[in-house]
Amino acid sequence: MFTKIDFEQVKARISPFVHETSIVSSQSLNELTGNSLFIKPECLQKTGSFKIRGAASKVTSLQGQNIKGLVTASSGNHGQAVAYMAKALSIKSIIVIPNNAPEAKIKAIKAYGAEIVMVGPKSNERLEMAKDISQEMEYIYIPPYDDYEVIKGQGTIGLELINWGHSIDKVFVPIGGGGLLSGIASCIKAINPKIKVIGVEPQGSCCMYTSIKAGERKEISPDTIADGLRTVIPGEITFPIVQKKVDDIILVEEGEIKEAMKLVLERMKLVIEPSGAVSVAAMLKEKGEGKNLVAVVSGGNLDIMKIAEIIAK
Ligand SMILES: *Cc1c(COP(=O)(O)O)cnc(C)c1O
Repeated sequence: MFTKIDFEQVKARISPFVHETSIVSSQSLNELTGNSLFIKPECLQKTGSFKIRGAASKVTSLQGQNIKGLVTASSGNHGQAVAYMAKALSIKSIIVIPNNAPEAKIKAIKAYGAEIVMVGPKSNERLEMAKDISQEMEYIYIPPYDDYEVIKGQGTIGLELINWGHSIDKVFVPIGGGGLLSGIASCIKAINPKIKVIGVEPQGSCCMYTSIKAGERKEISPDTIADGLRTVIPGEITFPIVQKKVDDIILVEEGEIKEAMKLVLERMKLVIEPSGAVSVAAMLKEKGEGKNLVAVVSGGNLDIMKIAEIIAK
């Protein structure tokens, strides 16, 4: 598997494109919970989510190749990350999105200069179209999570946590397809296996939890406010890594996700999206034992006009 050196090399390679995010705490949340709580705010990352790490890792792994363009299928944060990378390298990109994607996300992708191709709402239609474009136009397809280079890129968050030098008992990580979790778990376990790595899913969209219980990849029908975590089945590459490296998976309820968003907004002045709030929700549920806990807040992209509606309930 991956070693510390792998993650150090990727971190150096992607550093021109990616921020090293800080690690922040809140005295009032510590008092509320009886643990020391920390947040790794990838909502402050370029493009508003960690996805830029994986996209930058994949693209920079192709050095020396003549890259004509990049293509992917995603209406969300991954689409923005790929469009951003293409712009940074002055190459073209095509992002395949469903025809029901929110206008705000389409705008964000266009703002990075990407071309948009719209297809029907099914995720397999999107994927097929992206693969066709990749073949016909010789554009490089950038997978959202099921790829070793992408996983290593996401794992650089683990390296930053280790390099922080502060004692850590547990790290909480949101799960969609499992790229973020498998990257962070691989990195942390390669360097300091005593740190517990916990994956977090919404109760209404828990394909990784269900699959780990079953011992094989299982399909589910996702239903959650956390739009970045509506994954039908875990990745082929990410699933066995999660099986081997991750200590536990915790489920959180929709109300707990909203409460976490509200607390982080109120106490830490950070705008975080529901997908990024699940790790905070899980961390808040921990028994108060003076432990050092870190929640990776994976992103902060959401329609700001919806914030009041989300946190009102
Ligand atoms: C993509 C995404 C996730 C899930 O990441 P995976 O690597 O697919 O598990 C979580 N949070 C946000 C904000 C995302 O954009």
